[in-house]
Amino acid sequence: MITVNEALEALFALVTPLPTEEVPLAEAVDRVLASDVAARRDQPPFAASAMDGYALRDDEVALGARFEVIGEAAAGHGFDGVVGPGQAVRIFTGAPVPEEASRVIIQEDVTRSGTEITLNADLDPKPHIRPKGCDFKIGEVMGAPRVLRPADIALLASMNCATVPVTRRPVVALISTGDELVMPGETPGADQIIASNTFGLKALLEGHGAKARILPIARDTISSLETAFGLAAGADLVVTIGGASVGDHDLVGQVAGQMGMDRAFYKVAMRPGKPLMAGRMGGAAMVGLPGNPVSAMVCGQVFLAPMIRAMLGLGAHRSSRLTARLAAPLPPNGPREHYMRARRTPEGLVAEGRQDSSLLSVLAEADALLVRPVNDPARAAGETVEYLDF
Ligand code: AMP
Ligand code: MG
Repeated sequence: MITVNEALEALFALVTPLPTEEVPLAEAVDRVLASDVAARRDQPPFAASAMDGYALRDDEVALGARFEVIGEAAAGHGFDGVVGPGQAVRIFTGAPVPEEASRVIIQEDVTRSGTEITLNADLDPKPHIRPKGCDFKIGEVMGAPRVLRPADIALLASMNCATVPVTRRPVVALISTGDELVMPGETPGADQIIASNTFGLKALLEGHGAKARILPIARDTISSLETAFGLAAGADLVVTIGGASVGDHDLVGQVAGQMGMDRAFYKVAMRPGKPLMAGRMGGAAMVGLPGNPVSAMVCGQVFLAPMIRAMLGLGAHRSSRLTARLAAPLPPNGPREHYMRARRTPEGLVAEGRQDSSLLSVLAEADALLVRPVNDPARAAGETVEYLDF
């Protein structure tokens, strides 16, 4: 058996970052910025008023000083002139501060009479001017790679970038295999169940930036599996679910091999999971996951999500781990890394009582995968443990 990290290294060797494409800014959220983008202008592009008030010369400010209001500056409509001694310009937030003015007195701090203002006592001491380029300057870069968040989109807009270079989304083809499976919404026969894994994995992988296609269910026959692999053409990653172990009806490896996959089969020292098939087939990476629903989802989180991130140019790293206090003691772990379904509570992490890898209802209650290292000793309540956000 190989370790989870060894399996992950073997999977990373099957993929490379995908090419770049240019997308409109309005469609760029959650995409991965593929190359550095430089600001096309200063922001603000001029010294701008931060308040509604009067722009004047700071060195003339004194208790009871009077000024003649000679004009107005509003957002989008600057004052076309110079503020001389004894003069002020009525100004509003976002307007360019007129030449020679060096301070904005907020309107609450003056008394106005006709075209004259008088400064009150206890003036707000701040100048209320945003210097040119104080947010960012022309040429400043947003660095790649980076998953674009809403705040990044706003910044890119402000930088006057109408389109952005992003890494193409990896296309994943998902194939359920098994005579017992029907699609959700269909009427199953007496000995059939509903295919759940492809749906869960599509949701999981799209959350990591992939575009997933659910292919028709492949039956446990060579011709049906050949058809399914044919339909997967064009994908960057082909994922089969089930049929991957050594039972009489487990034909995925055989068919993939006949179709040119240079196949590696791993027994991974993990729970749930264990059998994992991987290789390259045509232009795609191929991974065969175990069929048990919890195994498929945990392997999706532990193996497929990092592969997607690597294809997106975000580097070859395992899923990031968090730490938490353990709320209740745990027995020692055996020779396989165990991803226990667990819940976060105010007292700490609580492992679910039932850990069977067929129980999706338990997985849905869980919001953490508590990681037990190989041969981890018994743990007491209050100890710190690692988990994956799930
Ligand atoms: P297998 O790896 O094909 O032996 O499948 C192991 C278990 O997972 C069996 O109980 C299958 O019925 C079940 N299974 C396989 N594929 C799926 C799927 N796509 N959705 C739900 N259960 C599945
Ligand atoms: Mg099967």
